[in-house]
Amino acid sequence: MQNFLKIAQLGQPVLRQCSSAVAVENLAGDRALQALGDQLLAVTRAADGVGLAAPQIGVPLRVIAIASRPNARYPHAPLLPPTLLFNPRLVKTSRDREQDWEGCLSVPGIRGRVWRHQTITVAYRDRHGCPQQRELTGFAARIVQHELDHLDGILFVDRLVSERDCFTEAEYQQLQKQAAAREPGAASRV
Ligand SMILES: [Zn+2]
Repeated sequence: MQNFLKIAQLGQPVLRQCSSAVAVENLAGDRALQALGDQLLAVTRAADGVGLAAPQIGVPLRVIAIASRPNARYPHAPLLPPTLLFNPRLVKTSRDREQDWEGCLSVPGIRGRVWRHQTITVAYRDRHGCPQQRELTGFAARIVQHELDHLDGILFVDRLVSERDCFTEAEYQQLQKQAAAREPGAASRV
């Protein structure tokens, strides 16, 4: 868990700046970018995150990692193999939006309810430099929208449905328990 200490925390200017696009012409052979990608994946894993953006480890470049699996922080997370997205951008978003709870490794101890597009199409380069396009829905789409925000200096606390939808981690867990008791299986949709 020592990597956790390397994650930029709320208040650090790097989280509020707009990140720069990376040069993708020689991505597969770019040692610095490959190392950055490896580090993003390693920190995501070590910190039990479902995604991480390069500014969160102090590098203001447009690179994100997504790697979702059920874990202690997100027991209902879907399985999404570890993937790096270089210069990701949304090319399509559904008109339908939904609200759900989010947290962030850069804003520890806080959960908030946020609106996100239900379905998105994200275009990006993979770590070999190949153009990719992927449609994602639900929680996976939420992860990508959250990480893309990081590249523009936006944090989930900027997008709260209302200030009242901001809970401490302990109160959030309590809420989830109550919801699970009321309606088993619906804990992730309070
Ligand atoms: Zn975050």
